[in-house]
Amino acid sequence: MSFYGGKKVSFEEAFPKIDSLGLTIEIKQGMTKFDTPDIRIYSLKYPPPPKISCSRTGCDHEFDIERIIRHTVVSGDAKIDRTMMCKGTMGRHDSRSCIGNCKVYGEITLKK
Ligand SMILES: [Zn+2]
Repeated sequence: MSFYGGKKVSFEEAFPKIDSLGLTIEIKQGMTKFDTPDIRIYSLKYPPPPKISCSRTGCDHEFDIERIIRHTVVSGDAKIDRTMMCKGTMGRHDSRSCIGNCKVYGEITLKK
């Protein structure tokens, strides 16, 4: 069970209009090619969680995946290609902005 919309509902209950979903989420600790992404693949059978934690050590920020999906459902666009910067802080003793990032891409098809 996930917490979509702040309630304890399943992905399908939260998004009854979604017919099919294929998303890839890449979580990286920085922007260089040396930052190997943590790649996760999601489908309607295995939907993404509402939020995914930044992978950078000491950062407790979360990427809002639910917001991107909601935006896509409302706008009616099938394609998703978004990169979110973390913007959290690097840690308790480091106030610089976190350079962790999260790339979300793929397709969502809505029911006719
Ligand atoms: Zn972060």
